[in-house]
Amino acid sequence: IFPPPAPPAHDWLRFAGIHKRFGAFRALDGIDLGIRKGEFVCLLGPSGCGKTTLLRILAGLEKHDAGSLSLGGRDIGHLPAGRRDYGIVFQSYALFPNLDVAANIAYGLRTGRMEKARRVSALLDLVGLPGAERKYPAQLSGGQQQRVALARALATSPSLLLLDEPLSALDAQVREHLRRELRLLQQKLGVTTLMVTHDQEEALALADTIAVMRAGRIEQVGTPEQIYREPASRFVADFVGHANWLPLQVDAQGVCRIAGAMAISLPAGSVPTGPASVFCRPEDVRVAPSWQSGDNTLLALVERVDFLGGLRRASLSLCGAGDLRLLADVSPNDAGFAALVPGQRVPVFLPADRLRVFAEPSA
Ligand code: ATP
Repeated sequence: IFPPPAPPAHDWLRFAGIHKRFGAFRALDGIDLGIRKGEFVCLLGPSGCGKTTLLRILAGLEKHDAGSLSLGGRDIGHLPAGRRDYGIVFQSYALFPNLDVAANIAYGLRTGRMEKARRVSALLDLVGLPGAERKYPAQLSGGQQQRVALARALATSPSLLLLDEPLSALDAQVREHLRRELRLLQQKLGVTTLMVTHDQEEALALADTIAVMRAGRIEQVGTPEQIYREPASRFVADFVGHANWLPLQVDAQGVCRIAGAMAISLPAGSVPTGPASVFCRPEDVRVAPSWQSGDNTLLALVERVDFLGGLRRASLSLCGAGDLRLLADVSPNDAGFAALVPGQRVPVFLPADRLRVFAEPSA
């Protein structure tokens, strides 16, 4: 009789303790995740980590072994797929080839003919395919078919939009274009969106929140900025973007050294008590045009320079440190840009505020 109590805003959609096995294989091993209304969340992780299984459980296409699922404070875990109020888009466009675009989009609509036509036309405008009603899927490019699939998923104005690698079958240019449009569309409609991807760039560009998964568990949940700048584990640091790792030792006086030689100062409060690793991103490594002695300045040999369009990525090996290597991203506006010549030695500076210390030693 009474409506369920409203859940906290960050738990509008809630996965609690979700477990799933396939035979002896543990595909999901206790997933807890809360999602706000209107949020765009990416499930990001390597192949086989359980992303699609989690999405399919939410969609009611797979049954979980334990745990609960709720939407707006209501338990939805027991509802059949057809009563869960979502639209879904798969990697393979999954349109009916024998139906035209209008019939594909209107498939799930239970309204009169005139209203259907009006709704289909509005949805086609929304996804940037005005007037495509009478086309057949085979007459459309991959990107256009995916727009139709998106329009179909949105046709009933669902509470949830579920996307399973929707862009990964498209070529790079179409993918990037559609990615931007998808984000704008999602913001305009405010529809809560859960997208599965193994593409970290896509997740960083699209999501309000990223949940990084590994082997059936959630490794970290955060904004793209947090996941990239403050990874909670070595796995996240390596999976999202490029990571530099340097082994760190602390001597009896508390002096921190990289590779047992070079003294290095670290962000306040992060001096470890035992062996550890220092992490930084390639864009944090500054190449200096000339040597200036001081903290965190090391000498390195330029081994290779790769052209990345707006940037060069230099592969450096630290002099006197075995075969310790660093990647440095340098832009033409940076002071050290001209010094990046393979075979040359250059001073590199590691700003203390860009370094993060991980208690685990380097692999
Ligand atoms: P991908 O990006 O490759 O799809 P994923 O993270 O989405 O990876 P899932 O598809 O969720 O991974 O699969 C997780 C694990 O569960 C995989 O090892 C997969 O082989 C296994 N799995 C998924 N579905 C089944 C099934 N129906 N029967 C047996 N094993 C399954």
